[in-house]
Amino acid sequence: KMTTPSRAEKICCLGAGYVGGPTMCVIAKKCPECKVTVADPFADKIAQWHDPDHLPIFEPGLAELVRETIGKNLFFTTDLEAAIQEADIIFVAVGTPTKTVGIGSGHAANLCYLESAARMIARVATTPKIIVEKSTVPVRNAETLMRIFTTNPESARLFQVVNNPEFLAEGTAIPDLLRPDRVLIGGQTTPAGHEAVRRLADVYAHWVPRERIITTNLWSSECSKLVANAFLAQRISSINSISELCEATGADVDEVARAIGMDSRIGAKFLKTSVGFGGSCFQKDILNLVYLASSLGLQQVADYWEQVITINQHQKARFTERIVHSMFHTIAGKKIAILGFAFKKDTGDTRETPALDIMYKLLEEGANMAVYDPKVPDELLWDDLTHGPSLAPKNARPLPLRERITHVTDPYQAMEGAHAIIICTEWDEFKTYDYQRIYNGMVKPAFIFDGRNLLDHQRLFDMGFEVHSLGRRPLT
Ligand code: NAD
Repeated sequence: KMTTPSRAEKICCLGAGYVGGPTMCVIAKKCPECKVTVADPFADKIAQWHDPDHLPIFEPGLAELVRETIGKNLFFTTDLEAAIQEADIIFVAVGTPTKTVGIGSGHAANLCYLESAARMIARVATTPKIIVEKSTVPVRNAETLMRIFTTNPESARLFQVVNNPEFLAEGTAIPDLLRPDRVLIGGQTTPAGHEAVRRLADVYAHWVPRERIITTNLWSSECSKLVANAFLAQRISSINSISELCEATGADVDEVARAIGMDSRIGAKFLKTSVGFGGSCFQKDILNLVYLASSLGLQQVADYWEQVITINQHQKARFTERIVHSMFHTIAGKKIAILGFAFKKDTGDTRETPALDIMYKLLEEGANMAVYDPKVPDELLWDDLTHGPSLAPKNARPLPLRERITHVTDPYQAMEGAHAIIICTEWDEFKTYDYQRIYNGMVKPAFIFDGRNLLDHQRLFDMGFEVHSLGRRPLT
């Protein structure tokens, strides 16, 4: 049963990214009496949020929501200080990426954006605030925030820190936010802590049934977010490890997934084999968990979870090796079509995308590539290609990116004259192409390496393609 909340909260969010933007749009839509302000220091990004036709991120349903709420009770600004001053509830949804240099480099979360947001709040705020950790953080991070706030005794009394992790998945962010499996709020076990949790719960209760809003202590809540992502990624690595076993034995991984998924203790979701998981969260959060465990001296725990990353790296590497070996051990000078560059369908996000690992390896082998993705902007593609995959050793010499790679807007152009097609992302439109026409325009033998087991392999085989899937033997 929905309950009417007691107050018209003024809400602000620091960070107008994949989490801050969509989350605040949904709050603005569902809480018309609340004023919602999203603040971010990047002026370009804020300008883009003002233009629903060119939002900084692509999410199905997002543009419509922005159009409905912007200027009414949803505002985007670069004026962080004004937004902080005005708000009763401040969400902090800044990035917490893996550190790339220094202590803990390659594992620990970089907490500098979080700290600077906290310091700004401590400096600017003069009225009571509820500070919501929305970013994914190491367990006990709220303690750090509280310490920053207590450096100023005046402000210490003003602030309550609560943790409210975000469980949305990119590509389905809006439906996930509108109908969450659960909302988790962690708070201090003091009267003021309970009150802060209750006020945040009242905001969500505008559209989330009360029984789906669960409350815990701060550390359980912080911990649950890392653990949720670790379990999700672990399922992917588990089925991917089995895909290799299936290829070696003649079992079919999709049949195995179906058979085990019908066991209600296992469940059917997240058992699709692929070329590996990507995205900004799974790898980062597991690395964070591994770092946390190992810095607490819990080496067995750290080693256990590290293996999820190891298998993911292995899956990308072995898929790429299969491509090179199948194409007569050399791809130098051959044109290869890369279908999909986003880390999954229905998003333009490319962070940690497996496509980048694959393309880098193919580039080292001397291939020419044409890339097509329906949503990835040109600038982002080249930026990613210039930086290379995050966990790969950095190349001594710069790779000849612009000479070897073309970014096309027509998928048929990517495949015309190619030796091979590689499916990197599971975009629905890839299933709808005229593969007979494509086959006719390709060099023979025409290879398809389906990194998502997306297409109808028997049909493609019957047309003449040599088809390679994951977790089952090639058709002969
Ligand atoms: P993002 O990079 O898209 O957005 C972060 C934004 O914060 C950027 O626009 C940046 O300019 C801004 N920022 C940095 N410092 C700031 C400051 N001091 N004040 C205000 N804004 C500042 O990142 P994201 O994907 O939205 O992720 C944010 C957090 O949410 C991370 O901790 C992430 O782990 C977590 N998370 C992400 C997802 C997801 O699907 N992307 C899901 C759940 C949780």
